[in-house]
Amino acid sequence: MEQNIYTDLSEGITCIDTGYLRPQMAACYLVVHNGEAAIIETGTNYTIPRITALMEQKGISKEQIRYVIPTHVHLDHAGGVGGLMAIMPNAQLVVHPRGARHLIDPAKLIQGTIAVYGEEKYHRLYGDLVPVPAERVIEAEDELKLDLNGRELLIRHTPGHAEHHFCVWDQQSKGWFSGDNFGLSYREFIGNEKRHIFPATTPVHFNPDKMLDSLNLLMSYQPKRFYLTHFCLLEEPQKYVPILKQRIQEYCDIALANEKTEDPYVGIKQALLDLEGNVLADYIADMSVQSAKEFIDMDAELNAQGLKVWLQRRAA
Ligand SMILES: [Zn+2]
Repeated sequence: MEQNIYTDLSEGITCIDTGYLRPQMAACYLVVHNGEAAIIETGTNYTIPRITALMEQKGISKEQIRYVIPTHVHLDHAGGVGGLMAIMPNAQLVVHPRGARHLIDPAKLIQGTIAVYGEEKYHRLYGDLVPVPAERVIEAEDELKLDLNGRELLIRHTPGHAEHHFCVWDQQSKGWFSGDNFGLSYREFIGNEKRHIFPATTPVHFNPDKMLDSLNLLMSYQPKRFYLTHFCLLEEPQKYVPILKQRIQEYCDIALANEKTEDPYVGIKQALLDLEGNVLADYIADMSVQSAKEFIDMDAELNAQGLKVWLQRRAA
């Protein structure tokens, strides 16, 4: 097996590299407590063998999986949900009420993804989405408390990145499984005792005010750690809050500056890459700024698309 797929984070938590697109791009987590386990984020169908191999290593049976918990229904987070649920007989799926129906009947997700990527790429990236029986789904209202055999996992609704997004608070480790609401921070970019971080303004729900409110909500718990989906553990989160807040503002300013151009997307993407290119210079050792910009090109593309949709919604 490839190396570095698993990172043990103590407190019963293991970070799993889902293998989506490239190494260390997207994570999911296995949380083990008193003989029960939860899977937070799932990656795609191609991640499932990585999850089951880890469970085998840890002596966790499929029957011991109590919860499968995607933070939202974007497919790098929830693409493997149905496939996992099909082989974990006692698991309940915990999902935001606005995302539940898409996992019970994934036809719309499939259709939308094929519309963007085409059928071949949809299968190559995600496999085939499997529906989840409705009776196995917990539609998680805000402040729902889950009991993982004595360990509390608290759901808080956190819109901003997506309307169907929540974060999961683990009181035991004082950590948030934050999905995409505490930005993207790849491990390749480490500067002066700090990691590079930037917001995920992905289509189609990005809302800066809600994202800032959600950030404040998360920080009100005085977290020690963030379990990012992109990517892995982030400690001393308070260091990153001013950066994220500033960057969200700058991203919106960039969008507004391009609003009247023929295709705002083009100018926005270039400006995002230029901005991050300048910032990244302080976070790269062996990489050129050009390579660093190429590394985040897909994120810049999604972020620019999301900002364009935000402009359209604002104007309407
Ligand atoms: Zn997302």
